[in-house]
Amino acid sequence: MMKKVLIYGILVILPICFSVSADAQTKKEYPKPEPMTPKMTEFWTPQPKIVTPGKTAKEATPAPSDAIVLFDGKDLSAWTGEKGDPAPWIVANGVFTVKSGTGSIMTKQKFENFQLHIEWRVPADVKGEGQGRGNSGVYLQGIYELQVLDSYENETYINGMAGSIYKQSPPLVNAMRKPGEWNTYDVIYSAPIFKEDGTYRIPPMVTVLFNGVLVQYNTIIHGTTPYIGFPAVNKHDAGPILLQDHGDAISFRNIWLREL
Ligand code: MG
Repeated sequence: MMKKVLIYGILVILPICFSVSADAQTKKEYPKPEPMTPKMTEFWTPQPKIVTPGKTAKEATPAPSDAIVLFDGKDLSAWTGEKGDPAPWIVANGVFTVKSGTGSIMTKQKFENFQLHIEWRVPADVKGEGQGRGNSGVYLQGIYELQVLDSYENETYINGMAGSIYKQSPPLVNAMRKPGEWNTYDVIYSAPIFKEDGTYRIPPMVTVLFNGVLVQYNTIIHGTTPYIGFPAVNKHDAGPILLQDHGDAISFRNIWLREL
């Protein structure tokens, strides 16, 4: 009789012991990381050396025969607003300009690997400083920001300058033209290939010429390019070219792309 009671007792107590220890485990707390702040991902040195680009050609680099023309000076029919609405930015005199507060615009067409040519200009009348001067951005596949900024005599964190992959890779040099003059980006981009688990098998890679001067050379992109925090890797398909509304009146012209 006593034996039976003992066995029953053990059978009753054992699961209780296990469930208590399981409870204790789920309740165990580890230290949490400090909340990220913007400055944690901003680096100021070494400031890239200044390279004066060659003189601007009188005529813009025209699209080659096999390019998809994304803006030919006439209209924004190749673009949409953030909600799929007609792109609300301003077209005049063969260029288009950010209409502050209307949000980013993106191409209707989506791309994988490409060569992109795009020209951009920051306003001649200089306003603001640092990131608040002539800020926009070219988002590759709508996700990875190639920074557009007035980096002419305007220091900021180097991984946020014109020609940087935002908050990741500073430009090799600073080849910015004066405010009011046209700049060019020639971008060669290869899209990432993902594993089944959503991480990169091959990360996105980019080479960028800024006014004909190399500023990114087979740069590996590590993930998204947020203002706050580390790059995140999120599985995605083909994506658009997206241009950022950062509140500044940046103008663009002569945009074309060759799929690779
Ligand atoms: Mg930007």
